[in-house]
Amino acid sequence: MSMSMSMEEEQPKSRGKPIRCRAAVCRKAGEPLQIEEVEVAPPKAWEVRIKIICTSLCHTDVTFWKMESPPATFPTIFGHEAVGVVESVGENVKEVREGDTVIPVLLTDCQDCGDCNSKKSNKCSRFPFMVSPSLPRDGTTRFTDSQGEVVNHFAYISSFSEYTVVDIANVTKIDPSIPPNRACLLGCGISTGIGAAWKTANVEAGTSVAIFGLGAIGLAVAEGAGIRGATKIIGVDLNPEKFEIGKKFGVTDFINPSDCGNKPVHEVIAEMTDGGADYCFECVGSTSVAHQAFARCRKGWGKTILIGFEMPSSQLSFSSYEVLVSGKTIMGSLLGDFKPKTDIPLLVKSYLDKELRLDDFVTHEVQFEDINKAFDLLISGKSIRCVIWMDKKFPPPI
Ligand code: NAD
Ligand code: ZN
Repeated sequence: MSMSMSMEEEQPKSRGKPIRCRAAVCRKAGEPLQIEEVEVAPPKAWEVRIKIICTSLCHTDVTFWKMESPPATFPTIFGHEAVGVVESVGENVKEVREGDTVIPVLLTDCQDCGDCNSKKSNKCSRFPFMVSPSLPRDGTTRFTDSQGEVVNHFAYISSFSEYTVVDIANVTKIDPSIPPNRACLLGCGISTGIGAAWKTANVEAGTSVAIFGLGAIGLAVAEGAGIRGATKIIGVDLNPEKFEIGKKFGVTDFINPSDCGNKPVHEVIAEMTDGGADYCFECVGSTSVAHQAFARCRKGWGKTILIGFEMPSSQLSFSSYEVLVSGKTIMGSLLGDFKPKTDIPLLVKSYLDKELRLDDFVTHEVQFEDINKAFDLLISGKSIRCVIWMDKKFPPPI
């Protein structure tokens, strides 16, 4: 018997059967996650069961963890920035096989609808983006707790579990040679920031950029804008510590709104950019910041790109006269307008080719049982990205 055959025989032991494993379950909005044993059902048709290697915490998880009403639902398993290995696949899945390294991505890419077939969109119309408590195709869940009660999915991913089930439309196969604690970042935040600069805004060389919020998303915008040759990259953040880390990603100037006295931030930016930045990026998730960003993008050609998640009911208000006369553009950007299956493998290559810098985004690493520390670090502004390792074999280096 050949080596590969014996390996194949070993792998499918769990195939077709439920797996019991550890998951960090959130039972109530804002409460610490609890590591519990859950049962993860086998993948149905068009689904993939993934063994998560590591996952990182994005502010979007925190936003929905705090949210007491729908679209947030409880109990749930959060997490949507991750990398893992395919444990088994359901019927009709041809794109990946057991053992493949994959990044599950919250935006679906059905590769069949008008949007997925268009170069202009990453917004699948067959399975539209939703903070769904279940899987996209049949609206049911694959998680149950020790009492046999259903535990919800989050945004089709739920990576805060040793195993998760994801639709094949949410799975991107990647080159396994990228280290997992770098690959996971590409599942959401870093891809979003880079794509917002490259695809949504299409930043040109020699231009000025203002970034509101220097978390991982804002810093990735800076990285993307720098690669494109932007010459002035202004970072705006209430946390003064973000300037030092911002410099590593090419931020040239820093504004702390608390230090501006009575002068509104947008006036300070106007002075620094001769009337307004060519591109303004909202990377906080605040309507008041979105208004500041729009106020200070340059008339005539300025673009404001909204990235931060606010409560779905929040409203923006502009005078129609202002929009008409200024000629500015305001745009939303989900996952930086990247198409997961096409663009994420290119970002992996860019990292492996030493073009795209990912290393400095990871400021902390913890083991799965310490997942609540990752929340504390992000909320207190101490971390950019905290990687959470599922397997005890990987002790955090610090
Ligand atoms: P983060 O918490 O790491 O960073 C947010 C930063 O904003 C912090 O540095 C904070 O100090 C700063 N900040 C807060 N209030 C501010 C204010 N009033 N003015 C200036 N700065 C302020 O978060 P992150 O993980 O980088 O995520 C940022 C936002 O992007 C979140 O709203 C998240 O939900 C959203 N997001 C959107 C997408 C997308 O596809 N559109 C993808 C990922 C994340
Ligand atoms: Zn995210």
